Amino acid sequence: MLLKAFGPQHWWPAEGPDEMVIGALLTQNTAWKNVEKALANLRNRKQLALPVIAGLPLSELEMQIKPAGFFRQKSRRLKNLATAIIESGGLEQLARQETPALRTWFLRQQGVGPETADSILLYAFKRPLFVIDAYTLRIGKRHGWLADSADYAAAQRYFTLQLEPDPDLFNEFHALLVQLGKNFCRPRNPFCEKCPLQPLPETIQPQATP
Ligand code: SF4
Repeated sequence: MLLKAFGPQHWWPAEGPDEMVIGALLTQNTAWKNVEKALANLRNRKQLALPVIAGLPLSELEMQIKPAGFFRQKSRRLKNLATAIIESGGLEQLARQETPALRTWFLRQQGVGPETADSILLYAFKRPLFVIDAYTLRIGKRHGWLADSADYAAAQRYFTLQLEPDPDLFNEFHALLVQLGKNFCRPRNPFCEKCPLQPLPETIQPQATP
């Protein structure tokens, strides 16, 4: 239904795992179009790689990622994350870890919460982790799939139980929910009459999750 309405979303819009990790951190609290400007700055200077970022002076990194907002905090966090990845042997070495251990490793890094960690694991490592964001929570709660009090973990549990554990499916499903949230399921005055999610799909029935 959503796929028919919006078409394939081709996420994550990045050229490789390094760019996915960098983008996942930069996209916190900002629109993707701002992240694209920061990524373009890094790309134009051939700095869009974790080993390069780990070695960049903070002042230079701040300048390149300024369009993504919170640039002082994000540049510190990005440099710390890039350094930790390199010191751990790089993404290929980290990829040898099982998904729970890998997720825990990323969650231990400063400024990496569940949404960022799961985005990195899903898009850069192709692990079957369903990413939850504000759009997903809003849509899920409005339809009664999730309890009003449902948090990140409860929402992730719900979607994980509903879907085959397929990274490509999780990728597409999440991207379609983001499109739905941006274009129809707005915080105020949701555009239900024209929404492609009407009528409610039979495959996902209301089932509140605590
Ligand atoms: S806009 Fe669409 S997704 Fe949001 S509540 Fe209405 S029908 Fe549901």
